[in-house]
Amino acid sequence: METSTDGAVTAARPASLSPSRASDFMQCPLLYRFRVIDKLPEKPSEAATRGTLVHAVLERLFDAPAGERTATSAKSLIPGQWDRLREARPELTELFAGDEQGERLARWLADAEKLVERWFTLEDPTRLEPAERELFVQAELESGLKLRGIIDRVDVAPTGEVRIVDYKTGKAPRPEYSEGALFQMKFYALVVWRLKGVVPRRLQLVYLGSGDVITYDPRIEDLEQVERKLHALWEAITLATETGDWRPRPTKLCGWCDHQAVCPEFGGTPPPYPLAVRVPESEEGTQGRMAPG
Ligand code: SF4
Repeated sequence: METSTDGAVTAARPASLSPSRASDFMQCPLLYRFRVIDKLPEKPSEAATRGTLVHAVLERLFDAPAGERTATSAKSLIPGQWDRLREARPELTELFAGDEQGERLARWLADAEKLVERWFTLEDPTRLEPAERELFVQAELESGLKLRGIIDRVDVAPTGEVRIVDYKTGKAPRPEYSEGALFQMKFYALVVWRLKGVVPRRLQLVYLGSGDVITYDPRIEDLEQVERKLHALWEAITLATETGDWRPRPTKLCGWCDHQAVCPEFGGTPPPYPLAVRVPESEEGTQGRMAPG
């Protein structure tokens, strides 16, 4: 994120693609604009923050020797990780504003404990030695498109086979919707393939909300297909960036969108477009001329 000298967030052209931002664009181009270009603030949510907390606990648990990675020791990490999270992001305290007796916070922490406990029914951390945790990856494709993201866990077998693992604190989607969830994993697999020249043997999604594990063994053709899809997405994003034409695409997911007040689908008006736009040839008679937004 870029900031000006007075500390305000400034707009910037998209420079790379992550799985979540790619999903945003596929869900609703206007949502992508609000998040990536306008960088409009969003309220923290209890569910997303609980997800961040549980991820932090599962990551830190592997600091302990294998024999000490029990559900009890994992749950004991929750208060400290919650303190650390609030220190890093003071705005999270507003989540429990008005909760004088601490009842909502207590319920929320108990729900985080349940998710952590459930993980132990799905995987056995005493038998795992991750090669990487919370691994930031970035790769540049031949086209120049930069892909980046953070992989929750990478396991490498003695044979060298790579497994990419992602924790989800929600419930597993119905089978007809699992392609969306696998898209993120194939995205990571593509990045690892392009970075290291190795196609991961297995992609594994661990759903702590419902106690499901979904695995997929990718083939090169899958990753080539994702690469083509990402190029097409990037082309569409570049065009929208240049023309300023970001269409809203209303779906039932609008219920979770923080930006209804500035969305035309809900009677709102987006803020002025902060980037220079390409004036159509027919209007200016000048090819590719850029004008302020
Ligand atoms: S409310 Fe719906 S249509 Fe509008 S920006 Fe958000 S996701 Fe897109």
